[in-house]
Amino acid sequence: MSDLRERIEAAHVKLERLTQEVCGACTQNCCHQGTMMGSQGLRRLYKGILMDPQFGERLRRGLSLRREEVEQDLQVAERVAHLLRASLSTEEDTKGLEELELRLRDMREFVEYMGSDYPLTAEGMSRLLLYSAVRSNLLRCLRQFPGGEAALATLSQGRSSFKFRGRKIAPPRCIFHHECCLAEAWKPIKCANFFCTSDPNLLARCRAEMSFDEFVLANVRLTNSECLVRLVELENELGKAYWEPKIIIGPESGWEQFTEKIIGMVTSNRQAQVRREPGRFMKATRELLDEISTLQEDQCVIYTCASIDGAALYELAVAMERARSADWHGGLFVLCRELAERSFMPHPMWDDEMISQPLGGLEIYLL
Ligand code: SF4
Ligand code: SF4
Repeated sequence: MSDLRERIEAAHVKLERLTQEVCGACTQNCCHQGTMMGSQGLRRLYKGILMDPQFGERLRRGLSLRREEVEQDLQVAERVAHLLRASLSTEEDTKGLEELELRLRDMREFVEYMGSDYPLTAEGMSRLLLYSAVRSNLLRCLRQFPGGEAALATLSQGRSSFKFRGRKIAPPRCIFHHECCLAEAWKPIKCANFFCTSDPNLLARCRAEMSFDEFVLANVRLTNSECLVRLVELENELGKAYWEPKIIIGPESGWEQFTEKIIGMVTSNRQAQVRREPGRFMKATRELLDEISTLQEDQCVIYTCASIDGAALYELAVAMERARSADWHGGLFVLCRELAERSFMPHPMWDDEMISQPLGGLEIYLL
């Protein structure tokens, strides 16, 4: 098992290096095109904060630095508004200026909120999701005045986010981005699957420099039994909206006892079906979705098996993505004695020039 841990760590390092090289060279950085964070993403973040309070502190510090950037935008917009007030006088202009006051007020309130001591809960952070709308309403309003957009870009002197990309002001960066993603390992599922459409392309580079099984290892999280127990307890306490599928591999010694412990924890809190697979877990996406469709509402499913390989993890990840988009609660566990490091063959999605790979969104833990 220690060899496997080393291979997993090496795969993490390699993926991290490729990400830095490729994402550093990409001119249409995905986090610079808005945000993929939504309410489900905020729930993941909150769970991460409860699991690791230091992560909460890092997040708070990062968001406070991000607030300074948004405040710069506000200051530039205020200066443009000041110039417009001084130079416009017709009735139509006055109406436009009234709307501009409202849009500036929204932005001011947003900056105040970011500077306040808002709770780092899913509910407490929900106003952050309004950032794109607040900024784009302000821009739309300024665009109504001839030269409004150009004045923004000129007065910002490169210090605010108001920069032209082509003939339009560039979209805003994700509010959870400050030098890197502030959500760390708890980023939204779509981001964890790093949806990539650029050239150079991160996924193409991964395919060129990593084998399929190595890429799978790069998506396995190393943890210990105590953390995993805490995570299951937490999801039990927080309720259905916080459940997420989990693939748990190991521990090497005492696997049966640990597996029974997890089964006991889940079944004492939720309705669950336990299905014991004698050998390797090999269910296809369709089969998994069919099995999920036979569960009662709010019922979870727990599989136990001897092993699982990368291709089966892909099938699971795709099934979970589809189930989630059909609003299924995500209460699924696969408890495996070991990871089969060699898949019978790479999953077809690996070579399929897909713009995303589904594994990042699946919580795969090796104990
Ligand atoms: S994931 Fe793709 S689109 Fe996003 S920054 Fe990296 S290379 Fe660019
Ligand atoms: S949540 Fe993180 S990875 Fe996703 S768009 Fe925002 S900064 Fe980027």
